[in-house]
Amino acid sequence: MRLSAAAGSGGLGTRGLIEPSMDEVRPGQNPGPLLDHEARRLHVRGVVQGVGFRPFVHRLAERHGLAGWVRNESGEVFVQVEGRTGDLDSFCAALTDEAPPLARIDALDWEHVPAPDATGFEVQASVATDAGRLPVSPDVAMCDSCRSELLDPADRRFGYPFITCTDCGPRYTVIETMPYDRVRTSMREFEQCPECLAEYRSPADRRFHSETNSCPECGPTVWLTGADGIRRQQGGEAISAAADLLRSGGILALRGLGGFHLAVDASDDEAVTRLRERKGRYEKPLAVMVDDLPSAQRLVFLSDLEIELLRSRERPIALARRRPSAALAESISPGLDTVGIMLACTPLHTLLLRAVGRPLVMTSGNVSELPIAMANEESRESLGAIADGFLTHDREIVSRYDDSVVRVIGGAPTFIRRARGFAPLPVELPVAVPRPLLAVGPHLKNTFALAVDRTVFVSQHIGDLENLETLQHFRSALLRFRELFRIQPQIVVCDEHPGYLSTRVAEELARELGGESGQVAGDVPVIRVQHHHAHIAAVAAEHGSTGPVVGLAFDGTGYGADGHTWGAEFLVADLAGYRRAARLRYAPLPGGDLAARRPWRAALGYRTLAAEDSDAFQAAFADVSSAESQLVERQATRGVNSPLASSMGRLFDAASAVLGLRSVARYEGQAAMELESVAWSVLVGPHMGPLDSGDRIRARAKQISIPELPFPESRSADGLRVLEPVPLLVALGRAFLGGGNPAMLAAAFHVAVAERAIRTASAIAAEEGIDTVALGGGTFQNALLVPLIRDGLRERGLEVLLPRLLGPNDGAISYGQAAVAAGRTNQQGR
Ligand SMILES: [Zn+2]
Ligand SMILES: [Zn+2]
Ligand SMILES: [Zn+2]
Repeated sequence: MRLSAAAGSGGLGTRGLIEPSMDEVRPGQNPGPLLDHEARRLHVRGVVQGVGFRPFVHRLAERHGLAGWVRNESGEVFVQVEGRTGDLDSFCAALTDEAPPLARIDALDWEHVPAPDATGFEVQASVATDAGRLPVSPDVAMCDSCRSELLDPADRRFGYPFITCTDCGPRYTVIETMPYDRVRTSMREFEQCPECLAEYRSPADRRFHSETNSCPECGPTVWLTGADGIRRQQGGEAISAAADLLRSGGILALRGLGGFHLAVDASDDEAVTRLRERKGRYEKPLAVMVDDLPSAQRLVFLSDLEIELLRSRERPIALARRRPSAALAESISPGLDTVGIMLACTPLHTLLLRAVGRPLVMTSGNVSELPIAMANEESRESLGAIADGFLTHDREIVSRYDDSVVRVIGGAPTFIRRARGFAPLPVELPVAVPRPLLAVGPHLKNTFALAVDRTVFVSQHIGDLENLETLQHFRSALLRFRELFRIQPQIVVCDEHPGYLSTRVAEELARELGGESGQVAGDVPVIRVQHHHAHIAAVAAEHGSTGPVVGLAFDGTGYGADGHTWGAEFLVADLAGYRRAARLRYAPLPGGDLAARRPWRAALGYRTLAAEDSDAFQAAFADVSSAESQLVERQATRGVNSPLASSMGRLFDAASAVLGLRSVARYEGQAAMELESVAWSVLVGPHMGPLDSGDRIRARAKQISIPELPFPESRSADGLRVLEPVPLLVALGRAFLGGGNPAMLAAAFHVAVAERAIRTASAIAAEEGIDTVALGGGTFQNALLVPLIRDGLRERGLEVLLPRLLGPNDGAISYGQAAVAAGRTNQQGR
């Protein structure tokens, strides 16, 4: 399946990977030929190297009986074809219609040239000139042809864990520099045997110029070691021994595409629990990998769209609703109705899963909060105390690369994490950046971005910039990006938070870059962008809009322009600037960032505003000693380490706590995720279609008599609209303490938040004369809230922009920062 990502069509971040629109195909200006015989020179730009494009052109020319040649020049493809006009026309149409799966044609131009009366069609040697800036293909899951060969005992690559072709295999994780050629990849260590070389040189072969081509004779090998690093078995025996280890409850470190995975038998609760303890990852959901679709369908309910996602060549993890009967350990995603599932993406994973015959937990090979391990020695150091065995190999990994995570929200695929299969494909801006720039991105869930003109290369998911290891990962990934895309940043963009590590890194980099360039006296300039403005700018810009829009930025916390903590913001924004039009009432957030894992603290902050209604909050404190809650209450009322916060994430946490669901969390977002799961438990009925529209959800809520909750609005002294969450939480708490069903109340809470958001946003839109609303921020990973708000706004005649090419969460911030920098300079230029 091909994920097309035209705005609003519901596709993922592969815009343009598919067919270019016809207006991008511009015929040349030369007058047409006099006879029915002519020659044309075509120029193709995009991802056209290392994807089997030249053999494809060769086959196509032969099919149409055309003479001429094809060659790579500086990473672009030039084709000369000569023949009858009608054949040339159909050749040109087929060039885009039938392009190889990994090709991405950004532009195709052609012009008439004198016909040299050539005979035959040849693939000419590449002409290497200065390569300029070339898009780099992401890694791609094993294709069906390779899979059949892998499993065919008669094939010479039967059971070979590194089988690839021009349609599939590693790219970004093996490419050191561009243009893409074996000598500039980590495959250069492996010299092709005569048989492989014959394939590589034959234009008719699927492996013609396949830079990762190899076989058991000449390619990388796989082996199994213990934590001591001593090889026990090799090849097929290593895979069988690894399977035995997994079947007996062992933990296996497995070297994949972008780093190590940690695997255990997903049906073995003890093994999963042991993995959690050793890795220090408690309760946070773990992903499960299976070999084929039927195995996935035994574990989770899948819509057609989710099936397409799972089988796509990007092979992301999809969050899907778990079947009650699924043979999965309880500890895989405790408290949640969903589980992350993916199909095997490499031949090595496929062979292992088939040998084990059971679904496997497949989680990043790291100690909690640290980057994924990539090199063999590094893995023994960092994973030695976790894994019982290492299934590894000697194909070096050039870039760390986590699995991508996608969730279908309101009928559209939405990124939770964008990495393998998608990064580093660029995302365009509606206006150009003034000079090449680096946007360092957010503090948590970091990605960074390099931008030049209107093109932004957004990095893969980096992680939380809270420790030295992740910071080193950031630095090395940035260096790789600068080399790959040949960008020398002359501006650095960062968050407004003065204390963030990312801000300090931005200042350091501005100094280093200033020193490097030699042209600038001192540091390169640093531009600071407010976090929620970046969220909204990112969503607008990916849809080609420069604004103005009404932006709803709902998330955990970000540094506000007034020095308070923001996170439930209604902005009137364009790319250049913004004005706050509404927010949640400020409440003290005792402990600041610490409160993200202590939902009771968020509830306590609101309780201090509730006066005589404070008893409605009592369920939030069931697991907290009264000494502790009294201490924290004093802290909150005196304003000691209690920033004032307007945070939607913390409001969801408080609601979860007030309903007695969760007052202490093991990871950020847990309370809100469980609140959503619990709400779904009453909404999803037997024999029901997907609840993916606001209409259907509201109809269902009415059918089961979900109660209505108040969520009023007032005005602040400076005229801002203020959403009043205290009456909402009080009503929620009273209903629960009065014997209300927490699942019904959780659903009612979602409906109330959505209704309030719709009313406030549409009122602002009407006042401002704006007809577009953009939704950004981590709260919009909520599959119940999004369709309710989206469809409610659409019913009021508003256009709604949702994050599609990048996710709603902070992974999109770096792109948003670049968009704001572009918007500001374009405004100054006017
Ligand atoms: Zn293949
Ligand atoms: Zn070979
Ligand atoms: Zn955010």
